[in-house]
This record gives sequence, C-alpha cells and structure tokens, in this order.
Amino acid sequence: MRFSQLFLLAAFAIESTLAAVCDVSHLDTSSLQKKLSSGAYILNSTSTEFADAAARWSSLDPPVPNLIVVPATEEDVVQTVLFANKQNVPFLATNGAHGSVISLGGLQGGIEIYLTQLSSINIAADGKTVTVAGGVHSKNLTDALWAANKQTVTGTCECVSYLGPGLGGGHGWLQGHHGLVSDQFVSLNVVLASGELVTVSESENADLFWSMRGAGHNFGIVTSVTSKIYDLEYPNYALQTVTFTGDQAEAAYALANSLWFPDGISTQPATFNQYSYWFYEPDLDATGPVIQFYLIEEGVDAVNVTVVDAFNALSPLSSVPGTGTYLDLAAWTGIDLSAGPCQKTGNAYPRFPIYMTQYNTAAIRNAYNLFKEMTTATNSLFAGSLFLFEGYAQAGVKAPGDDATAFAYRSDNILAAPMVGYTPDGTAALDQTAHNWGTQMRDALWAGATSVDGTVGHFASLHSYVNYAYGDETQDSWYGEAAWRQARLKTLKSKYDPKGVFSFYAPIKV
Ligand SMILES: Cc1cc2nc3c(=O)[nH]c(=O)nc-3n(C[C@H](O)[C@H](O)[C@H](O)COP(=O)(O)OP(=O)(O)OC[C@H]3O[C@@H](n4cnc5c(N)ncnc54)[C@H](O)[C@@H]3O)c2cc1C
Repeated sequence: MRFSQLFLLAAFAIESTLAAVCDVSHLDTSSLQKKLSSGAYILNSTSTEFADAAARWSSLDPPVPNLIVVPATEEDVVQTVLFANKQNVPFLATNGAHGSVISLGGLQGGIEIYLTQLSSINIAADGKTVTVAGGVHSKNLTDALWAANKQTVTGTCECVSYLGPGLGGGHGWLQGHHGLVSDQFVSLNVVLASGELVTVSESENADLFWSMRGAGHNFGIVTSVTSKIYDLEYPNYALQTVTFTGDQAEAAYALANSLWFPDGISTQPATFNQYSYWFYEPDLDATGPVIQFYLIEEGVDAVNVTVVDAFNALSPLSSVPGTGTYLDLAAWTGIDLSAGPCQKTGNAYPRFPIYMTQYNTAAIRNAYNLFKEMTTATNSLFAGSLFLFEGYAQAGVKAPGDDATAFAYRSDNILAAPMVGYTPDGTAALDQTAHNWGTQMRDALWAGATSVDGTVGHFASLHSYVNYAYGDETQDSWYGEAAWRQARLKTLKSKYDPKGVFSFYAPIKV
C-alpha cells in the first residue's frame, strides 16, 4: 500500500463528505461556463493543454484532476467553488505546481482551479505596498518590483508561486530584514469554502488573518494579496562558494556554529544568508558527496573576509568568489528558471524537513554517512538526491514574536531537509525505500537537535516546515505542538471550512 493510501485512511476518515476518488470527467459544466468571464476556460483530459496544466514538479502522489478550470477573474474562482460545492465534488487550487506533500494525492478526480491567469501586479501610488494576484510566481514579482526600485520578501525559487510559500510562512533572502513572506501581508482577498469572497486583514478578521500566515492553504483560495514593499537599498551581492569533502563535515559545521549559532542563538547579520548542499558529483569527489556552502552577503562586492578566511583555513576542495545583484541569487543556488528544480521531469522529490537551532556535528556525521551510503551505492537509484541546509538570516523572523502568526517555528534557525530524488518505476517498493532513507536521515538530525531551552535530542514534536513536508508528519509537527496553537487552528477550521474542502495540503483535522 502506498503511503498516500495509508495517509488517506488516517487523515481523510474525517467529517468530509467528499469522496477521495471522484471522477468528474463527464460532469455537465455548461452552467458553470455561463457564469465564467470571457477569459476563463475549462479543460478536460482530452484538451491539448490539460497535461501541461496538470503537470507537477514532483511525481510522488500528485493530485489527479479530471477537469481544470482556468479562471481569469476572482469572480471566476467564486463561481467555480460554488459550482463544485453544488455538485459536491472536490477541488484544489494550483499555482506553481511545486507542492509535494503527499496529502495532495488525496485529490483523485475532481476539479483543479489553475490560477495562472491571475497574474496582475500593481504597486500602490505611495510605493509602500503591492497588490499581487493569486497566480503570480516569485520571479514575476521580484522583477516587477526591481523595475520600480522596490523589493519584498518572496520565496527564493523563481518558478515557485508567491502565495504557495507565503501561506505556509514563506522563507526568502530578505527575511533577515523584514520577516517571512507572510509577515508582509497587509490584506488578502480570499474565496472561502462556502464560495464567499472576503477580505482578510488584522482589522477585519484578525483570527483568520493569523491563520492565513502559516496555515493558509487550509482556509481558502487567495485571489489577491496586498503586501508591504521596501525601497531597494542594496542591489549588489557577493557570493563565496566553498566546497568540502565529506570527511570535513564536522569542521565545516562546527565553524558555521561558531560564526552564526553560538549556544543556538542566531547571530547571523540580516545582510548575510548561507546555504549548504550535499550532493554526489564524482567529478568533484569520487569517494562521496561533497558539502558545498554558499556564503551570500548583501550590499558588498566581496564576502566578509573574516568569514571567508575562516572557511579557507579548513582547506576546502575549492573556494570561489562571485559578485552580482539580488537577481543572481537564484542562479547562484541552482533554483532559477533554467535550473533542474524548475523542470517537470516526471521524477519524484520527497523531502523530509526539520528545523534546528544549530548544527550538531555528531548528528551531521550520522546523516552524512546515510546520505553517502544512499547516493554512492552501486547503481543507486537515488544518486541525484540533494541534502539542503538553509541558513537564512533570522532577525526579521523573530521580531514579531513567536505567537504572531500560525507559523510556529520562529525560534529555530536552520531549515534542513534531505530531498530523495528518483525516477519512479511504478512500484510502491521504490517509494517505500525512498521514504525509509529520507526518514532515517531526518531522524539522524532530529536525534541531535537542540531545542531552544537547550535540551538535546528529539523534541516532543518534530519541527517540520509544512511547505517541505513529506506528509506523514503529525499535525503538531506542521503547525506547532503548543496546545493553544492546535486549539486555535481547529476552531478556525471548524468555523471557516466545516466540511474540510481545503484538506489536500497538510490538512488540519478538527
Ligand atoms: C524548488 C523549490 C524551491 C522552493 N523554495 C522555497 C522558498 O524559497 N521558500 C519557501 O518558503 N518555500 C519554498 N519551497 C516550498 C514551497 O513553499 C512549496 O512547495 C509550495 O507549496 C509551492 O507552491 P506552488 O504554488 O508552487 O505549488 P502548488 O502545488 O501549485 O500549490 C501548493 C499548495 O498551495 C496552494 N496554493 C497555491 N496558491 C494558492 C492561492 N493563491 N490561494 C490558496 N492556495 C494556494 C495550493 O492549493 C496547494 O495546496 C520550494 C519548493 C521547491 C520545490
């Protein structure tokens, strides 16, 4: 039995009246068509555009619609939700198609609402906010703001949507200054489960506004959002790419701790972001995966010499400087439009995320050894996997306070995730093997994680970024273990989505 099926048995045996499998290919959509604007259209599985509109970045347990509605206005979204409700059929909004949590596979049949035509971006006359339509991707927003000498926090990958990351919190290069993507939201236009279109903001409905910033996928379809923007002060950036062999893991991460996370407290300047990736590239090191650090600094033409010297003193395989602008960051880290993560190849890419306050070098070693075994085995089917450590600056994220929004993990500092990449062979056994590897590697990090109170070892609940989640983590793990958080989310879910129609993305069970 595939994991999605196991998950479905557990998670979808809830009050929802929707069938998990719902073939709507023969549904008469003429009444809907009459209510849609002239720019909207409906695709069925025989339409030439259908496959493209349904294609996903990761092929593990994807949603499988029979009909796709492509709205051109927010009223089209309203009408589609009303229609789906009247027909009692499931529906799911899709955007950048990079969501990979396996609960998405719960949509088997039903209607996809593909937001691609909701693409407007309007900067307010006072230059303080931008109104972004529901289907805009990160790069479109970044470019439009850049042209106006403005910027805001967006996800870092160019082909991921603006709102997909934002509704789950949203990490980005500028979070050290301004906080998460969702911390920028001022108000959102949201089509609720009932089909009602409402404006959500602190002044109008503070509870729902709180939940849209961390658990937003559970509450509605955002047709547009107004977000804070900022003057572009420091366009220039410097990069230092430092590559280590696996035997240098302890030294490299001990150095990272001493520079940025002494005692688990982030001291990383708002102008500094650091990633590290592990990947097996025999041309770089035939014996095992390399560890590649990307040290990225804003407003300078060379990365802080003290930091670079400290890394270079460890005698890495290579250490290469670069200069550019904010617009180069995605390419530097392999997530621009032309890079692998922006292609839809049919491969599966489950991730197994964990937040940490600092690096535990013993745990890093254990995780590395597993990653090496998985990627370098003879004829390994997982050789193309990637282990991600995202060390974004934290000051702006911590500033609003832990409880400010539904995003639960402002106290943590590092987002780590093994991503097990493979070409599916149609067997559940291969998916199971990938899951086993991913879980073991995450468990290795979890065993050495340090909580904010200094306790080492498994937290009571795994701290797991909902937007990277595999899908078999607990609800506590996605949204925080604090009882008040769970109670607040459950109350809101019961109020705004009593039938659980928004239950395909890390669903909140009441
Ligand atoms: C290569 C890559 C890079 C990433 N980079 C980042 C990053 O820098 N920062 C970060 O925080 N996360 C990042 N993520 C994770 C990302 O936040 C999630 O994968 C997110 O779900 C992607 O959103 P999407 O719109 O592209 O995907 P989709 O699969 O289209 O949507 C994902 C979910 O969001 C919902 N959704 C999308 N738009 C709307 C809307 N307008 N209204 C309501 N619901 C909506 C969909 O219904 C679905 O449930 C990255 C993921 C990948 C694969």
